[in-house]
Amino acid sequence: MAEILDRQIDHDLVRPTPRSETTTLRAGKRVGETALHRVVVVGGGAAGLELVTRLGDRLGRRSRASVTLIDSARTHLWKPLLHSVAAGSIDSGEYEVNYLAQAHWHGFRYHFGEMIGLDRERKEVRLAATVDEEGRQITPLRSVGYDTLVMAIGSVTNDFGTRGVAKYAVPLETPAQAERFNRRLVNACLRAQTQPGPVRPGQLHVAIVGAGATGTELAAELYRTTREVVAYGLDRIDPERDIRIVLIEAAKRILPGLPQRISKATQRLLDQIGVEVRTGAKVKEVTAQGLTLADGSFIASELVVWAAGVKAPDVLGRLDGLETNRINQLVVEPTLQTTRDPAIFAIGDCAACPRPGSSAPVPPRAQAAHQEASHMAHQIERRLRGQTLRPYAYRDFGSLVSLGRWSTVGNLMGFLSGRSIFVAGLFARVMYLSLRIMHERAIGGTPRAVLSLLARALAHRAGPPVKLH
Ligand SMILES: Cc1cc2nc3c(=O)[nH]c(=O)nc-3n(C[C@H](O)[C@H](O)[C@H](O)COP(=O)(O)OP(=O)(O)OC[C@H]3O[C@@H](n4cnc5c(N)ncnc54)[C@H](O)[C@@H]3O)c2cc1C
Repeated sequence: MAEILDRQIDHDLVRPTPRSETTTLRAGKRVGETALHRVVVVGGGAAGLELVTRLGDRLGRRSRASVTLIDSARTHLWKPLLHSVAAGSIDSGEYEVNYLAQAHWHGFRYHFGEMIGLDRERKEVRLAATVDEEGRQITPLRSVGYDTLVMAIGSVTNDFGTRGVAKYAVPLETPAQAERFNRRLVNACLRAQTQPGPVRPGQLHVAIVGAGATGTELAAELYRTTREVVAYGLDRIDPERDIRIVLIEAAKRILPGLPQRISKATQRLLDQIGVEVRTGAKVKEVTAQGLTLADGSFIASELVVWAAGVKAPDVLGRLDGLETNRINQLVVEPTLQTTRDPAIFAIGDCAACPRPGSSAPVPPRAQAAHQEASHMAHQIERRLRGQTLRPYAYRDFGSLVSLGRWSTVGNLMGFLSGRSIFVAGLFARVMYLSLRIMHERAIGGTPRAVLSLLARALAHRAGPPVKLH
């Protein structure tokens, strides 16, 4: 591994000569030049990893272009799985994709590092140096040259400047954060089991701020997994008395972005399970003991998850004059090209892509990331052939909310009728799973996706249904 990283660093240190955007591109090569066209994708998430895998297979392997992925992480975990990692229902290791291996199998290069800047004149992305746990440098500060650049660095949690969130609440943006929350939860149960006195009020309470799909799904899943952890011999904890899951939402109803019918059905299910829901409740401050709401009331809770909205990473606001909106997203044309630089594209959560007939841009969702990755792959091939780029049009297939073993509810768009159809139960569950399977197929092919599915089903039968460490 060290050898592969070293080779990549040498390659990066060679600064590419600046080239003009108007140079004609043909079959991946510039007229009069032998150098391959360099496609660089920053961010290997739901959108970026699908894109580089496809480009690597179609262009990289056939030496039609050089395809490179830059990511600040070494592995990819599909983000919609994070709430299950936080709840302890799944082990992230079983679902992670290693970037070096993926690059090796699919004909692209991988550079480990965080993008910290951009030089549009020189056509270079700047990467921060990386260091290990002992403070030793892994990769130096460096620049990677591009001819076509695709930004796909996703989104981060938006705490809207609320006091105490950064210190006391856990966001769910990365596998490390989801695992950290799960460890806090299991530790809290172990502590309660062995401490001399009784369980304190708030000690085993979880407050989830934000009742969008992430917060709602986490609440339902946590209700089950906390009881399962306790069932493994933690007999000093009484789940009915000591454990409390509270879902807090500033809007008038949960799932405010989804149709009212889904919101009502989900609220009914949460009521049945025993998850407490507080709507119309704005959080003013988070402390080690709990949350203070705008109306002055206090919710005791030593475990707080913040899932109340997203924004694009701050670095996008410092990218050599590229246009951003109020939540830092790169503003793009319908072709997915950034408004101020046609050689730079943006896809996924970090892009503000116009949606015909709507004042809001394409929503930050996995299905949009999947569609944009697929459209982008075609755009790059067209660009290499010197053809006109095509506009991207988002197709909303509906939204599904999984409440773990209790149910899955949502709406699917009927394309013939153009109307939204309410779905629930097993059919909805299968549709919910199909989005993840589509992603796994896009990055590993059908045989690997099926094999992983079977392997995980077997592994789940062999161990406890919840993570206990
Ligand atoms: C807990 C949770 C549950 C969700 N559930 C659903 C769901 O059920 N359905 C749905 O449609 N959507 C869901 N979403 C939203 C969905 O996951 C996102 O819309 C989707 O992942 C966006 O894909 P992306 O490629 O734009 O970004 P991401 O998947 O976030 O990938 C971004 C990548 O960029 C890398 N990166 C970030 N900054 C840098 C940098 N400076 N330099 C280099 N690399 C960088 C990151 O390491 C990451 O690999 C959920 C999101 C969360 C957090």
